[in-house]
Amino acid sequence: MGGGGVGKSALTVRFVHAMFVEKYDPTIEDSYRRNLTVDGITVALEVLDTAGTEQFMSLSTLYMRSGDGFLLVFSLTSVESISELHTIREQIMRIKEATLIPGKEQRVPIVLVGNKLDLTHERQVSREVAVHLSRSWGGVPYYETSARKEINVNAIFEDVVRQMIKADATG
Ligand code: GDP
Ligand code: MG
Repeated sequence: MGGGGVGKSALTVRFVHAMFVEKYDPTIEDSYRRNLTVDGITVALEVLDTAGTEQFMSLSTLYMRSGDGFLLVFSLTSVESISELHTIREQIMRIKEATLIPGKEQRVPIVLVGNKLDLTHERQVSREVAVHLSRSWGGVPYYETSARKEINVNAIFEDVVRQMIKADATG
């Protein structure tokens, strides 16, 4: 999840089809399947690429409720895109907390992703600012990625799946 144009579709298509699409219809919302092996455990992963055009709050609420793990993506070239993540994360926590079992230590699997690392000269968000945000969220992992140059794309999916497996084992 994340703002428009940050590279959600580019990251998804890179991960699922191992290619970079220059122009991906921003209104297309689709789910993709890929098997992924993490620490010797193979999972059938369903990735929902949200389009962020939800006219009805209920739709994004539905995604958040049914989602087992979340990649919160911003663009390193846009300060606005990182601030947009506050509301999204708050919504996720509100929805997920409602289903938590009291007294049990449970964490919502989340990874913070700063994409477009390759656009060095257009960079607006420093690593420090992003790391600070990830700490304020209780220390969620932070990665800098490039869908174009294929940097850390598998790593973000592996990390969130690792968290999901852990949550499943303890929850
Ligand atoms: P979405 O709205 O979040 O799904 O964003 P898209 O995946 O459609 O990407 C928006 C634009 O950013 C497109 O023109 C992509 O080609 C471009 N883009 C996405 N990821 C990267 C990246 O890692 N590096 C560069 N240079 N461009 C990217
Ligand atoms: Mg898209």
